[in-house]
Amino acid sequence: MKKIIVAIDGYSSCGKSTIAKALARHAGYTYVDTGAMYRAIGLYTLRHNLTAEAAIIAALPDIQVGFVQVDGAQHVTLNGEDIESQIRTLEVGNCASRISQIKEVRAFLVAQQQKMGDDKGIVMDGRDIGTVVFPKAELKLFLTAAPEVRAQRRFDELVEKGEKPDYDAVLADVNDRDYRDTHRAESPLRQAEDAIVVDNSHMTREEQMEVIYKLFDKAVNS
Ligand code: C5P
Repeated sequence: MKKIIVAIDGYSSCGKSTIAKALARHAGYTYVDTGAMYRAIGLYTLRHNLTAEAAIIAALPDIQVGFVQVDGAQHVTLNGEDIESQIRTLEVGNCASRISQIKEVRAFLVAQQQKMGDDKGIVMDGRDIGTVVFPKAELKLFLTAAPEVRAQRRFDELVEKGEKPDYDAVLADVNDRDYRDTHRAESPLRQAEDAIVVDNSHMTREEQMEVIYKLFDKAVNS
């Protein structure tokens, strides 16, 4: 059967990775979480106290981002270290959002992401996958949900991890991140012209997957 590239973009906390992972499993494809790659660089800069753009750019040759499979789950690695358990915090997320505005950081990661798609059979999620990384992807999805719904989902995730978040702070963070992601000069988050929009504010996961599996089957068979 023909293998395709599936590009999934959208706002933070709109369930991109859950959907991308489920679709990759369904299709027998490789899943790549590009947000985790930006988070890995964010963590590196936090650990080394790098804040100046020039210092971050100069450090790129020392940074290796990769993935390993652990008990069937994908974990991101930083210079060979499994950092999966350290990157899902608000602090690392905000740092990732800041460093992702640097042109050289984006070029560094985009080149690696494009290479991962050489053999197709890939589901990649992020902010610029359908517009920059794979503008010719056979299926492009743009996920969206109301900010309050996304803030509640992130709040629940943080509670589950044992953190004690403040809902208003989480909502403010979601709005700030949306603003930064959509207004940055380099590859701002935007819907590709040929992307299909899925607003999942009022959809269950099963309802979403049903829609997405149908779109996938159509793209593979066209
Ligand atoms: O998706 P996630 O929340 O893990 O991404 C963290 C941050 O990395 C985002 O807020 C965004 O600024 C940045 N990012 C990006 N381009 C991507 C993936 C993530 O700029 N393809």
